[in-house]
Amino acid sequence: MKPSLLQWEPAAIERRLEELGGRAFQARVARAELLGRGKLDYEGMSALPKDLRRTLATEVPLLSSIEKLRTWSSDGACKLLLEFPAQSQSPGARTVPAQVETVFIPPHERGSTKGATVCVSTQVGCPVACPFCASGKAGLQRNLAAHEIAEQFAHARALGPISRAVVMGIGEPLLNLDNLLAGLSLVRSELDLGARKVTVSSVGFPERVRRAAQNDPRFQLAISLHTPDQEQRDFLVPAMRGVPIEDVLAAGDEWFHATGREVTYEYVLLAGTNDSEGHALRLAERLRGRRATVNLIPYNPIEESTFGRPTPESVARFAGCLERAKLVATVRWSRGVDGQAACGQLRVSNASGAPPA
Ligand code: SF4
Repeated sequence: MKPSLLQWEPAAIERRLEELGGRAFQARVARAELLGRGKLDYEGMSALPKDLRRTLATEVPLLSSIEKLRTWSSDGACKLLLEFPAQSQSPGARTVPAQVETVFIPPHERGSTKGATVCVSTQVGCPVACPFCASGKAGLQRNLAAHEIAEQFAHARALGPISRAVVMGIGEPLLNLDNLLAGLSLVRSELDLGARKVTVSSVGFPERVRRAAQNDPRFQLAISLHTPDQEQRDFLVPAMRGVPIEDVLAAGDEWFHATGREVTYEYVLLAGTNDSEGHALRLAERLRGRRATVNLIPYNPIEESTFGRPTPESVARFAGCLERAKLVATVRWSRGVDGQAACGQLRVSNASGAPPA
């Protein structure tokens, strides 16, 4: 298959366009039409000459991915199931197309002039395997390439303007850091996504956080903590088993010192598991003296798990404990729950291409 538009280095695609009879700057025009205006076929790119559009359609596929399924939630969130071509990992290995999910979340207020938030995935499956999350149930199949991360923005942009991005979809972003950074840089200028408009959520592998901090990361960092207790974190975040919570927090401190951007600590509230007053007090103790916000996320149900969703009263009680300890606590009741598009509900579809349950 020929490389698609976003797979080309900027200088190389300019040369390719000239070979195809176009002008170098028209490569930028095509990218702006795709990412900035959400045009998903060359035919609709009226800023390019007709002949060139026809040539590009056969010589430089606009996208490598296709939309397989679109699911709207009652609150307006839209989940896209996207399929990417198979990539051979080793000679003779069975290859199957990779499927991931991307979510387009329009602003709450009707008639808002703000754009949507897009939630993108970075891996096909997730190696972290948190027991409350659908994304890790099938393990890790492969990393997404930079252009595959960028193409999710293009599909989402076709649904409407975008003003924020959260890298909170399928996968652990810091385990695919190079492709994530390259993917974000492919879309940054066309979508005007500066560092304050992109949040990357990680379970906080200390070395990865430090490496990211040293690489001019143009994003905000959220670290998913989920509990103040080491034994419970080893259970809730299995890939971090044995990594002391204090090391995770120390890496977060280093991030803050290197970037000047505060870390948000995320905490999925699981009824009867990690939502007691004692948990809140111990969490406050862990974070004492740190400049950080805690983002509480009431659990979003998935069929494979028996965890419970906390009541609004218990969420408020937990948040109140943190606030009395002088921490900033926010609550995120996720959008898209009835469309299985909320935090922890995204999943890799099966290899046959059937839509997720
Ligand atoms: S919560 Fe995040 S890190 Fe954990 S399995 Fe799901 S996608 Fe992976």
